[in-house]
Amino acid sequence: MAIDMNVFRGFAEQIKMLPQMARPTDCPDNERVKHAKAIFSTKIDASNATQLESCVHCGLCAEACQFYIQTEDPELTPIHKLDLLKRYYRREKAPLRWLHRLIEPDITEADLEATQHLVYESCTECGRCGLVCPMGIDIAAMVHVTREGLAHAGLIPAGLRAVEQEQGSRGTVFGVGPDQLRQAADELRAKGHEVPIDKDKADVLVLTSTIDVLLFKDALEATVKVMNHLGLDWTIHSCAFEGANFGLLSGYSEVQKSASERITSQAIALGARMVIVPECGHAYPALRWAGANAHGAPLPFEVMALSEFLGREVMAGRLQLNPIGADKHVTYHDPCKIGRHGGVFDEPRAVLQALGVDMREMPSNRTANFCCGGGAGLFVMEKAEPMRNAAFDLKRQQVEATGAGSVVTACGSCRINLMAGADRTHWGTRIESLVELVGDNLK
Ligand code: SF4
Ligand code: SF4
Repeated sequence: MAIDMNVFRGFAEQIKMLPQMARPTDCPDNERVKHAKAIFSTKIDASNATQLESCVHCGLCAEACQFYIQTEDPELTPIHKLDLLKRYYRREKAPLRWLHRLIEPDITEADLEATQHLVYESCTECGRCGLVCPMGIDIAAMVHVTREGLAHAGLIPAGLRAVEQEQGSRGTVFGVGPDQLRQAADELRAKGHEVPIDKDKADVLVLTSTIDVLLFKDALEATVKVMNHLGLDWTIHSCAFEGANFGLLSGYSEVQKSASERITSQAIALGARMVIVPECGHAYPALRWAGANAHGAPLPFEVMALSEFLGREVMAGRLQLNPIGADKHVTYHDPCKIGRHGGVFDEPRAVLQALGVDMREMPSNRTANFCCGGGAGLFVMEKAEPMRNAAFDLKRQQVEATGAGSVVTACGSCRINLMAGADRTHWGTRIESLVELVGDNLK
């Protein structure tokens, strides 16, 4: 099912309105530095301190970052994005902190504000830089620590803050709550699909995301078709259907924890043995790792990204697909959080192989894949548009090098960024969802 571009453009316009919806934070101006420092103090443990000490200034991380590659702006060198955190560490925690206090100025609110651009609008926490660092420095993880400090100082970019505040206060995202979910379910029932909602007990809890309810309805419909086709005992729950976690994206840990705990407690109440995360890149680590940490104990259920689940079912022979044919030439875009961070590479490719398409890898693929540019919330940040466009242009070159007529992915944010780029540049390559291809070709 092709996406209606008018609906897509309307959604893109709504995103531009988000900054106007953000409420002021409750962090007083004169306390911002104090709040940021309190977070840095908690988060810089021995492991992070070692990483902040380890850089040998080789410059390899710059050549790995899509934003540096596209702009050649030395400000966007990945390790430079940690300067604020490093300054805090040297002055407050390093063995020679007394010396650093003599030669380095203390952090100011102006420093915090300047860092917003580096860690929010110019980093998708894609992890490609950490992959090449000879010292094993996990720059993305410490960019996230910096985001957490800024978030608790009330300095989240306004568009992202608006969505984080909505998820924190009302439990919804983009205005999509239980009523909108039920309406989407009714639309699917009218098309003849069974959509179990709010069962008391179920083996499998299926999450969706606001983007799928509003925009990528094809992905939601295909997910429902697959679950029913496999004959699973499954449900979507109106109290815990949203996979997206804008607390994680913003760095605001209270919202992050409440969003993941909402899912965890519902899955436990259902007695679920598995939770399936929809085509949403960051929703996967938000539940699988960060959610487990927030819960404080191992999760008593398996967490699977939808693409991972589909691949596993195909490889086990339980999910059989009608081949589309080798005259469909596709390439696969690995969502960073599911691929590089989550290790899900073989499963989506097994699905594409079962569909019999002509699969062509991009020059950088699997662990080396470039981010679409919209991850980690950049797709709702108004000032990140130049960065998103720069990353898209690199991705477009990579897709075109394959000669494929279609780029398939398994993340709604990637899909939005690729579609926005295609719309901006009048690019004719199809942008498709993996689960949609599966739903359309069930045997
Ligand atoms: S995590 Fe990705 S976007 Fe961020 S600095 Fe590293 S390579 Fe660049
Ligand atoms: S790749 Fe690692 S060691 Fe080299 S400059 Fe970047 S952070 Fe420093």
